[in-house]
Amino acid sequence: MDVRGRLFIAGEWTAAADGAEFTTLDPATGSVIGTCAEATEADVDAAVGAARQALADPAWARLPAAERAKLLWRVAELIDRDATLLAELETRDQGQPLGVARTVSVAGAAEHFRYYAGWVTKIEGAVSPVSFPDTTHFTRREPVGVCALITPWNFPLMIAAWKLAPALACGNTVILKPAEQTPLTSLHLARLCDEAGFPPGVVNVLTGGPATGRALVEHPRVDKVSFTGSTEVGQGIVRASANDLKRVTLELGGKAPSIIARDADIDAAVRGNVQGALLNSGQVCAAYARFYVDRRRVEEFTEKLAAAVAALRLGPGMAPETELGPLVSDEHLRRVDAMVKEGVAEGAELVTGGARADGDLESGHFYRPTVFAGVRDEMTVARQEVFGPVLPVLSYEDEDELAARANDTRYGLAAAIWSRDLSTAHRLAADIRAGAVFVNMPPVPDPAAPWGGFGASGWGREMGAQALDVFTETKGVWMHHG
Ligand code: NAD
Repeated sequence: MDVRGRLFIAGEWTAAADGAEFTTLDPATGSVIGTCAEATEADVDAAVGAARQALADPAWARLPAAERAKLLWRVAELIDRDATLLAELETRDQGQPLGVARTVSVAGAAEHFRYYAGWVTKIEGAVSPVSFPDTTHFTRREPVGVCALITPWNFPLMIAAWKLAPALACGNTVILKPAEQTPLTSLHLARLCDEAGFPPGVVNVLTGGPATGRALVEHPRVDKVSFTGSTEVGQGIVRASANDLKRVTLELGGKAPSIIARDADIDAAVRGNVQGALLNSGQVCAAYARFYVDRRRVEEFTEKLAAAVAALRLGPGMAPETELGPLVSDEHLRRVDAMVKEGVAEGAELVTGGARADGDLESGHFYRPTVFAGVRDEMTVARQEVFGPVLPVLSYEDEDELAARANDTRYGLAAAIWSRDLSTAHRLAADIRAGAVFVNMPPVPDPAAPWGGFGASGWGREMGAQALDVFTETKGVWMHHG
């Protein structure tokens, strides 16, 4: 059955209540590749009702932990089975090169399910040494309840998996709402959860845009919102959740500094920073997005960086030789281009790129990777999240100024340090305010490592054991035996 144009509610594939639909485009060509149902408030209400009911259904609520673990493991196996199809769907819908879809998105999604399958039987409470006489106190880790999982368009499948797997591991029921630009792999994931044997209503998927997301966040019977997306929408979600004090975790924007110290291996730093800045054409929340280079190495670094990015093969994600795919949409490309123009207007020196790709690539959303030199801290390209292939290079005189400059931002998601000197690496790793600091490597997500940010980069941590904290409530049980 073609599930496009359908919502997944209570184990059934249904059209939107009012029949509304929207299309999703291939960013490499701009052509329509699918039609999806646009979930209305009535659909949101139905999905929340189904998730509420499933939460109390003994088929889920009383399922032994070992059986729940098997369901998660089974989803991982089904993702592996359908890896080729999922990777192609992700590439066509999102634009990322097929190799990235296979090795990062699809393999990552399967690993999240396997990692949390292992946790299901290890979510433990504790006996607390209370001083009240003749009393035993112990804690239970219980599901938070009905969770709305709202995802962005940059890594739709992997981000869905990094929320879905821990939410299910902890016994919650969920409504997943993928971004309107990239709904296709989330729909397939719902199919796989169904095939794995999750009881109806445990996993629901609603496609739709911001209005669908808003209706979910405002629904009084949703207990928790786990959101990954822009800081502005995250702020709105906090406000909307305040009415009934929903639990909220937020993974938001970033503007990761990458520091290239005087003693760095410049060739290795160029390779790592090209990967760190340009994976998925820079549409990565943890992408390295401002480069602080020791003044004595800045020319060498900039020259090699510009040569490396200019040599990257830009093209459709489905073409095997492609190293850099298109941006997700024309709207996003225009936003990136406007920020580049602002960089030029503010006096940054455009070393390479700076324009939409032409020729064969004209009909897709391709943007030439762009390097700016001579960037100053106060310039827009050094401060605002571009979320595209734009690399601003700044220089520094003295290491002592670095932590303050790196921390002069509202964000704090990721940071990188390139140095062979252990004391430089340790000092900066301690002083930079970011949820993850990478030394001599690009930013990578791994299910075992907590993910999230300081400041306007979000609230809470997902992945790792930390995700179990945000998808459970702790209940204390007191037993008097006097
Ligand atoms: P976005 O905030 O526009 O949209 C994200 C999701 O929220 C979409 O599903 C959208 O439909 C939904 N949405 C929009 N308005 C809503 C509302 N008022 N209420 C509820 N839901 C609403 O973000 P985007 O443009 O899809 O993604 C890009 C942003 O995501 C960037 O800022 C990036 O840094 C961030 N991001 C962060 C991480 C992380 O882990 N920190 C990972 C990926 C992307």
